[in-house]
Amino acid sequence: MKIWLDGELVDESEAKVSVFDHGLLYGDGVFEGIRVYSRRVFRLEEHIRRLFDSARAIVLDIPWTQEEVCRYVVETVAANGLDNGYIRLVVTRGAGGLGLNPYLCKRASMFIIAATISLYPKEHYENGLSVITCATRRPAPAALMPQVKSLNYLNNIMAKVEAIQSGALEAIMLNEQGYVAECTGDNIFIIRDGKVHTPQVNDGALDGITRHVIFELAEKLGVPIVERQLTRYDIFVADECFLTGTAAEVIPVVELDRRKIGDGKPGPVTRRFIDAFTELANSTGTPID
Ligand code: PMP
Repeated sequence: MKIWLDGELVDESEAKVSVFDHGLLYGDGVFEGIRVYSRRVFRLEEHIRRLFDSARAIVLDIPWTQEEVCRYVVETVAANGLDNGYIRLVVTRGAGGLGLNPYLCKRASMFIIAATISLYPKEHYENGLSVITCATRRPAPAALMPQVKSLNYLNNIMAKVEAIQSGALEAIMLNEQGYVAECTGDNIFIIRDGKVHTPQVNDGALDGITRHVIFELAEKLGVPIVERQLTRYDIFVADECFLTGTAAEVIPVVELDRRKIGDGKPGPVTRRFIDAFTELANSTGTPID
């Protein structure tokens, strides 16, 4: 596998970062997960724009332009002959001192991995996921801005641990006020009386690229969509529920805390979104060659 690292495509065995890199020492950095479908990079410009926004929000200077980074992503996918897959792009603060001070890190480091991912087993895309509500809360926006896709994922990891320990694959995280924020790596949507509802970003959700695709598809499909505060109650009484994410795509949720959502099966509106998403993902995007 060829990895893009600071301007060069190198062999996986040579793709190394310093132990003094603040990405490793402090989780100081930002990242993106991006998909390749049918030799096209899906929503590339949007991902790179979010990467640069995240970087700006944490005062991290990326020493390349957005256009250059888009080109490097395409080059990395091409160099690995990947027709379908998952790209992980990471920008770290770079090597610095052992103290926190990010201004002592001379230059950001960037690497791009073009590989594959399967977040949940295939059968759950057909039959739906069973999720739990976890005790680990999403940090308050004033502590960690939810729009920033930073390398600080420890709370999500602790939420994932809770899910796995209770026999579920995914956990719903609430914010400090007890409103639904998102899952460990996905945004959440519910459907009630034909209308789609999803938490606002300020409730502690990442402003997902796939979330935006759902907004676009909702308009195309003529399904009304609202961003509002949701509680567990809203999920318990929903007709349908699904999660979205670059890695997860669109996946139905049929159980919360061992209680059935709707009739306990993936619903018709969710299916329409899954089909529309699959069609869009395989017919649009930045071509590899
Ligand atoms: N929330 C979190 C915490 C995530 O890590 C992700 C995955 N990037 C998402 C939501 C979904 O965002 P996207 O659709 O941009 O992948």
